[in-house]
Amino acid sequence: MIDRMKRRSFLTGLAAMGVTYGMGARAGAVSAVGSGKQENLKITKVEILQLTGKNKKKALYLKVHTNGGPAGLYGPIDNEAAIFVDRFFKRSLIGQNPLAYEAYWDKMFRASRHSRGSHYIMALSAIDNALWDLRGRIFGLPVYRLLGGSRSKVRAYASCLGFSQEPSALRAKAQELKRQGYRHQKWFVRDRGPKFGPEGVEEDVKVVRLLREAVGDDVDLMFDAFWQWDLQYALAWTRRAEQYNPRWIEEPFQTANLDAFIELSRETSIPVATGEHFYGRWDVHKFLKAGAIMVVQADPEWCGGVSELVKICTLASVHGANVIPHGHSLHAAMHVVASQPIEVCPLVEYLIRKMSSYYNFEKHQLRPVDGILELPDRPGFGIELDESKIADIRPVSWRQS
Ligand SMILES: [Mg+2]
Repeated sequence: MIDRMKRRSFLTGLAAMGVTYGMGARAGAVSAVGSGKQENLKITKVEILQLTGKNKKKALYLKVHTNGGPAGLYGPIDNEAAIFVDRFFKRSLIGQNPLAYEAYWDKMFRASRHSRGSHYIMALSAIDNALWDLRGRIFGLPVYRLLGGSRSKVRAYASCLGFSQEPSALRAKAQELKRQGYRHQKWFVRDRGPKFGPEGVEEDVKVVRLLREAVGDDVDLMFDAFWQWDLQYALAWTRRAEQYNPRWIEEPFQTANLDAFIELSRETSIPVATGEHFYGRWDVHKFLKAGAIMVVQADPEWCGGVSELVKICTLASVHGANVIPHGHSLHAAMHVVASQPIEVCPLVEYLIRKMSSYYNFEKHQLRPVDGILELPDRPGFGIELDESKIADIRPVSWRQS
């Protein structure tokens, strides 16, 4: 517990860091837009804030300050992204106009010979998302509206990672989710695979059959193999699972194994999905051009940010494919989905167990009602930190002096 004195100085500290958003951000937005001063806005400071909860849980948020305008906030961000932001990107942001993001993204993508993947582009994603939040606060609009969206609600699918697959528990959970209004459920078939042989295939098909029997024909069922299969196993499973009409089979193979994706897509009527490990539009283009997948699951915190995911949506629309972003997080994903035609982006992933605590430090929890997520009408992504949950907040750095 923080005593009264400590609490007062703590709150003062939060305010000094600009953590307590709300009407202040809107008021700032009105004056910036009204006077046309947003053209002169410059980024003055970039901070990675480490939040520690009263339960000792920690999370990192990226904050981008401007000269007199609002600040952009995005998180939680992954450790790997935070380290790269701190070591490689921070300095390049100072003095940038936050509205000039396309040229900045391109410049930074060209700035490293290793920019095509992994932690570098995760860091670029975090910056891109924080800048989208900042622009939302400058103009007083939610990000999905800035992107040209008109849907204020998006349908979520129940992502069932971590639930028991013991038959009676599986049946009960699937029926419970159906009663809660989820019309789509994704289950995981990652515990067996080739080393289990035909018995493994048998068990993984049984999961599909039990679920179809549990929910009937009016719930879409999807399956995620988490990279664990090979082509023979996938072919055996899809041949037998087709009768239960799955909506997709996800990540049967490692993303590097493009040929196996092509072969499986050629052989099965079940749409094949992947993409949470796509970095940039070029990875997506390679898979779509080859006819390897029908569902693109690029993650806006890993693939290059909101800006890149929007480009990926355009690319997917050319190929008649869906973009249903990976759901390890929700802010950026749900705003992009809401900004796109429903034919391109019909769903967002909602990881039921993870999301119950993932946004622990925020005032507004993202919880689907009847399987529907409502977009916030607050500026940017609508993130407001909840000081009652925060025991400590401080900028952190990994720079070597
Ligand atoms: Mg997955």
